[in-house]
Amino acid sequence: MNKKLIVLSAPSGGGKTTVAKHLLSTFSNIKFSISATTRQKRENEINGRDYYFLTKEEFQEKINKNEFVEYEEIYGNYYGTLHSEINEAIKNNKILLFDVDVKGALSIKKAYPKEALLIFLMSPDFETLQKRLRERQTETEEQFNKRIERVKMELDMKDKFDFVVINDKLEQTLKEVENIVRNNIFQS
Ligand code: ADP
Ligand code: 5GP
Repeated sequence: MNKKLIVLSAPSGGGKTTVAKHLLSTFSNIKFSISATTRQKRENEINGRDYYFLTKEEFQEKINKNEFVEYEEIYGNYYGTLHSEINEAIKNNKILLFDVDVKGALSIKKAYPKEALLIFLMSPDFETLQKRLRERQTETEEQFNKRIERVKMELDMKDKFDFVVINDKLEQTLKEVENIVRNNIFQS
């Protein structure tokens, strides 16, 4: 009943963005937690909608001012969740949806043990994950390799999550996650 923070995690290409979009279009009371990042904006992304795109100096300034609930260096860039995002959502009585890496997810759970619901998305197998990430065509070869190198560490953390969903057939994944949200956020 108290769950107010839905945290989605997965290796890169695991389906976080796809599932997040579905939840946001299904539940009007859910708001996306916009993280700050120093990585370059992708073509289809918008500053202030997908991320707050910052320079390294701007990000460092926010670290110094203690503005992050958590932050991590991932694939050579910084990513972090701002206190202001969470405070604003609580003030407006919104459920917040996070797309963060596995370490960030556990940090959010530690900071908000009662409120956080952790969902790990897992591809059916390693080959499928690689194929999906390649076909997304967003990464350079170097970035692709960095993302793949991290998969084992990420999979090793999956048992710390409240739910693990195998993202095989997309329709089924979306239904499954939707049900987890209904049962843990909107009903029980
Ligand atoms: P993430 O945000 O975790 O990196 P995405 O949501 O961007 O992952 O998904 C990676 C790619 O795989 C995208 O191109 C997406 O459309 C595709 N995808 C996600 N889930 C499935 C699925 N179940 N079946 C086929 N393609 C999928
Ligand atoms: P991408 O570059 O593909 O958008 O994200 C790379 C990784 O950073 C993903 O695992 C994504 O979930 C994670 N990420 C995005 N925002 C945050 C954040 O605020 N904190 C943490 N710890 N990870 C984040």
